[in-house]
Amino acid sequence: MKNRTLLMIPGPIEFEPAVLAAMGAPTTSHVAADFIEAFGQSLERMRRVFMSENGQPFILAGSGTLAMDSVGANLVEPGDRVLVICTGYFGDRYAALLKRYGAQVDQVTAPVGGRPSLEDIEKALKQQKYKIVFVTHVDTSTGVIADVPGTATLAAQYGALSVVDGVCSIAGEELNMSAWGVDVALTASQKAIGVPPGLALFVVNPRAMQAFKGRKAPITNYYADWANWLPVMQAYEARQAGYFGTPAVNLVWALNVSLGQILEEGINARVERHRVLSNACKAAAAALRLNQVAIKPEWAANTMTALRYPPGITGAEFLPRVAKAGAYLAGGLHPDIKNEYFRIGHMGATKIGDVLATVGAIEFALIQCDYRFESGSGVSAASKAIFRT
Ligand code: PMP
Repeated sequence: MKNRTLLMIPGPIEFEPAVLAAMGAPTTSHVAADFIEAFGQSLERMRRVFMSENGQPFILAGSGTLAMDSVGANLVEPGDRVLVICTGYFGDRYAALLKRYGAQVDQVTAPVGGRPSLEDIEKALKQQKYKIVFVTHVDTSTGVIADVPGTATLAAQYGALSVVDGVCSIAGEELNMSAWGVDVALTASQKAIGVPPGLALFVVNPRAMQAFKGRKAPITNYYADWANWLPVMQAYEARQAGYFGTPAVNLVWALNVSLGQILEEGINARVERHRVLSNACKAAAAALRLNQVAIKPEWAANTMTALRYPPGITGAEFLPRVAKAGAYLAGGLHPDIKNEYFRIGHMGATKIGDVLATVGAIEFALIQCDYRFESGSGVSAASKAIFRT
């Protein structure tokens, strides 16, 4: 039997063979000329993928949480007031993280599956002066997409920096740092960027870099201190070696391949492909009468789909059956509804056939769980949605 099950969770995902081949190539020195070129090129390509004209890209060994942590460590000084726009688990994580660095954190929240309105955000900004506004672009625990351009515009209007957690969005959802006035955007390698887990990636735009350079309090995190990494990033981009900590050499090789593929596809075409795949998945869900966690369809992300189980069906029954039929899906993550829903990732290298196979596997599992529906209706709705778009 074929020993391959599609990895359709919201990260890590299916990866392109060329990316995996780059990971598996013999490791080079981190100061080898060809590696310096790959690292330098990756930094330049990041700027294009994040759509930042003059930001400073960083590539660190670590996960997305390190990218979040580094922003907290470098931009927050004890006593700073910051605002977290929360659409789920990862917004709460950011709030907890920022408190470690002495921030006074306020949150704007919404019911699970909802998102704070721009009016709610503006109300908070009117009441209090904040140094930074943090927003999770797509909260992977709910599949809700935030209004990032609206939030960044408001932050700038009220004199605050904006930081976007784009771990579940960048290279899958539209993001234009320069046009939207986003000051920092961060992600991790294992999602729409299309590289196995292990890299923390972020771009710091000039206003945020100025705030970093002007800070008074010492930075209390050693590894994540931007002062240690800035000269390294600048050196590699100038095609010279630099050292603070050994880079994740194979991952950087793989990153350069993936960023090259992303730019070759074109950011707009890639975002559009994610929208088509997402529409197909969501059309299938509607046909199967599976409700989204996102309260309104326009609040649902394109990189993933979060769906509630039908009454009487549990993850313990359902998910192993989907996997047996060919696709790994993820269970719930948001603590309030953890056992009530499951999550499908459809980002990066995901193809139309992967989505159709996944919907087929979901139907197979639903039949086995004695759920009543018209067999084939999910797959049919998905393929119709694809051909309509
Ligand atoms: N933010 C979001 C929106 C995420 O989805 C994740 C990972 N699922 C993280 C942050 C943390 O990233 P990591 O697991 O790579 O530390």
